[in-house]
Amino acid sequence: MNRERHPVYWDPEIETLPRERLRALQEDRLRRTLAAAARSPFYRRLFREAGVAVEAIRGPEDLGRLPLTTKDHLRQGYPFGFLAVAREEAVRLHSSSGTTGRATVVLHSARDLETWAERMARCMYMTGARSSDVFQNMTGYGMFTGGLGFHYGSERLGMLTVPAGPGNSRRQVQFMQDFGTTVIHAIPSYAFRLLAVLEEMGIDPRRELNLKTAYLGAEPYSEETRRRVERELGVRVFNSYGLSEMSGPGVAFECPEQNGMHIWEDAFLVEVLDPKTLTPVAEGEEGELVLTTLDREAMPLIRYRTRDLTAVLPGPCPCGRTHRRIDRIKGRSDDMFIVKGVNVFPIQVETLLMGMPEVGRDYRIVLDREGDLDVMTVEVEVRREVFQGDVKSLNALRDKILAALKSEILFTPRVRLVEPGSLPRNEGKAVRVLDRRRGS
Ligand code: AMP
Ligand code: ZN
Repeated sequence: MNRERHPVYWDPEIETLPRERLRALQEDRLRRTLAAAARSPFYRRLFREAGVAVEAIRGPEDLGRLPLTTKDHLRQGYPFGFLAVAREEAVRLHSSSGTTGRATVVLHSARDLETWAERMARCMYMTGARSSDVFQNMTGYGMFTGGLGFHYGSERLGMLTVPAGPGNSRRQVQFMQDFGTTVIHAIPSYAFRLLAVLEEMGIDPRRELNLKTAYLGAEPYSEETRRRVERELGVRVFNSYGLSEMSGPGVAFECPEQNGMHIWEDAFLVEVLDPKTLTPVAEGEEGELVLTTLDREAMPLIRYRTRDLTAVLPGPCPCGRTHRRIDRIKGRSDDMFIVKGVNVFPIQVETLLMGMPEVGRDYRIVLDREGDLDVMTVEVEVRREVFQGDVKSLNALRDKILAALKSEILFTPRVRLVEPGSLPRNEGKAVRVLDRRRGS
C-alpha cells in the first residue's frame, strides 16, 4: 500500500475528528463492546450480579451504572474467562509483568493486533517518525507488551526496525553506529543505563550518533528526567503510556507539543475517578484513570481500574488533534508509601533529584523501622567528578538535597550520596522503593 500519506497525521480523519462525531463513534462502539463483553463468561456473570442490562446503556453518560473491573477480576477470570470470542479466534496472549501479585492475561484476535499496530504507527508518526527512519527497539520482547507493540507499529509505519531487545548496551551502541539508528524506544531507567555506557565508551551521542527521537514509557518519570535525557542524548523524548490490560503501549502518547499525552478516544473511553469515592473528578483534577476498550474484539474490558493517577488536561491542543490529553502519570496508587504519616510518591523525590546537575542517574528510597520510628533514606548516585571532589562540596550537596526534600515531603529524611553505578540495577522496570519495615 503506497498511497500518499498526510504530512502530519497518520490517520487524519480519526485524529482530527470533531468532538461530536467522536462522541457518536464512541456511542456506537460502546454498544457493540458491551454486547460483545456480555458474551464472555466473566462479564455475563458480573453484569447479572450487578443487575444491569447492557441494552440499557446508551452512551458514555450511562457508564456509571456499570460495575468497575479490577485487576482482581482479571485474576479470577484467568486465563480465558474474559474471552468474548471463540478460543480459536484468539491468536496472541500477553501477560502483565505481575509486579503486584499474580499475573493476568490479555488475549487478542487477528483484528485486535491490526488495530493495535495501526494505533502504534499513529503514535510514532505523530512525533515525526517516517519510513526513512531506523528504529531500534530496546525493550523486552516477550510477555511484556512494549516490545511487540512498538515492533508491529514501527513496521506498519514502514521504519527499518531493529528488534534489539534490552540489555547488552555496548552492542546497542554498535547497532546505532552501524545502522544509523534515528529513533529508539526504551524504559527510562534503561535510557540512563545507556547514557552511562556511552560515557564509559567515550562516545558523545550528540555528535557521533544519528539519534533524533526517543520514546520513553512503561514506568513513571519526571519532566526533569525527560529534559536530562534530551540534553545528554541529543534527542526529543516523547512520553508513551499504556498497560497490558489495554493491549500495551499506544493508549496515550505525546505529540510534538510535548505537553500531555493524547489518549486515543476512538479506542478508549476515558474516566478519571476519585480513587476513594469512585465518582468522576472535574476536568484538570487528579484521579484514577478508568478505561473502557472500544475497539477490542477478543477481550473487551469495561471500566477497568488502571490504578494510575493522572488528570485530563483542559483545552484543545495546538496540534489539531481532537483527542483529549492526559497529564504525565504520577504513579500508581500503590506506588505511594506512608512515612511518619505523610503520603509520598517516588516521583516527588525523582523530580527534585533530577533537577540538580550534581546528581547522577539513579536513586533509591529505602524504608526502615528503628524502634517505633519509620526512617526513610534516599540513596543518591552523584556524578563522578562530584563524588571524587572534596568533602566540603559533597556535604553542601547533601544539605541541598535535604533541604529540598524537606520542603517537598515535610519531614527530614536521611540522604546517602553514593558512587555512580553502585546502586543495584535490575532488568526491566526500576525498583525505586525498598521497604524493609514489614515484619519488624
Ligand atoms: P505493564 O502492564 O506491566 O506493562 O505495566 C503498565 C503500567 O506501567 C501502567 O499501569 C503504569 O503504571 C506504568 N506506565 C506505563 N507507561 C507509563 C508512563 N509513560 N508513565 C508512567 N507510568 C507508566
Ligand atoms: Zn497535540
